Amino acid sequence: MKAILPLFVFIDACGWEIIKNDPFARAFAPHRKQLSSVFGYSSTCVPSILSGRWPAEHRNWSYFVYDPANSPFKSLRSLRWLPRAITGRRIFRRWLSKFIKVQLNFRGYFDLYNIPFEHITLYDFTEKKSPLQPGGMNRGPNIFDYLQDNDICYHVSAPEKDEHLNLQALVKDVETEQIDFAFLYWPGLDGLLHRVGNQSPEVPAKMRHYETWIENLLAVARQHYAEVRLYIFSDHGMANCTETLDLKSQIEALPLHIPTDYAVVYDSTMARFWFFNNRARWLIADCLKKIPQGRIIPDVELEELHAFFPDRYFGELIYLVREGVLIVPSHMGERPIFGMHGYHPTDPQSYAMLCTNQTAIPYDIEAIPDVYRLMKRDAELAKARNVPDAALNAAPKLQGIATPA
Ligand SMILES: [Zn+2]
Repeated sequence: MKAILPLFVFIDACGWEIIKNDPFARAFAPHRKQLSSVFGYSSTCVPSILSGRWPAEHRNWSYFVYDPANSPFKSLRSLRWLPRAITGRRIFRRWLSKFIKVQLNFRGYFDLYNIPFEHITLYDFTEKKSPLQPGGMNRGPNIFDYLQDNDICYHVSAPEKDEHLNLQALVKDVETEQIDFAFLYWPGLDGLLHRVGNQSPEVPAKMRHYETWIENLLAVARQHYAEVRLYIFSDHGMANCTETLDLKSQIEALPLHIPTDYAVVYDSTMARFWFFNNRARWLIADCLKKIPQGRIIPDVELEELHAFFPDRYFGELIYLVREGVLIVPSHMGERPIFGMHGYHPTDPQSYAMLCTNQTAIPYDIEAIPDVYRLMKRDAELAKARNVPDAALNAAPKLQGIATPA
């Protein structure tokens, strides 16, 4: 038996509003706190948690950027001749994304979403590495670099496996007592909330399901570790989409052309523009100012959100819609969905959560990047305590390399 297992369970999109009036995990992780999220999607929230740094520091922000010189998608331009009835279909895009991911050796999450093939050579994809691995950040280290550099044996979920398989893989590693740190990643709730919204009875049902899994995991962990330090946390919440905005049609009605005048990425809740002349800049900014469903985020506000990039790599102008509005069609999807995130971090449904069995959550744990400090602190503690002399039965410690699932 070992002394300590820090157990970090990441439930994607399990926002504070989801658990606020729900007894989720009260029985085994009763201490809970609302956490501020980070401006952006999971593509920035997850790296912020894993690195303890903000988007402007780690540069994992939105997936697609205007960067024709470095676009890896040149071979896909010929697909623009295929009928939209085929290239617009999700099933075709998913299949093609899987194929391209292997071809381009992308290690993180990759999806072509709804990027038009006509313009695909204008774009680069910014998550070529997996933030769930050492060396996986666009800039700087993450928790897995820290664990590797300090010879702390760990378990991390493999995103390509389903939730239950990842749970089983962790249980196996717990039973062998090889690990001194565990990071479990469950993305299923995020997918469910996108599909059914945050008021569906399927949501509390999923929470009960997670509770059972965590309780079972805890029971196993307690047989092998004298103390299990459990932290269940999220990256953001989920808002119901009650209004759609066809921003693309309004911009495309302007007397401007891509790519001579401007380039744009239409995300689900924001549009990011690059301008190649002042006329385009004025016309687009003027048009956006007249659209009441959102607003242009000033640079000073982006700086406050730690999401200002002086080189304008992710866009020169960021237009963000208010909570509940969904940009449709966008480069992320052709059709409306029930739930979305990626709104302003101070919008009610954006807030994340932390639940723990530890009696006190430090006062300075306020935003999702702060979870990194808890992970580092507990990993250090486990390393110091999980030496053979400190363990109850003095089981020999298996020194080893990380064991990603
Ligand atoms: Zn999501």
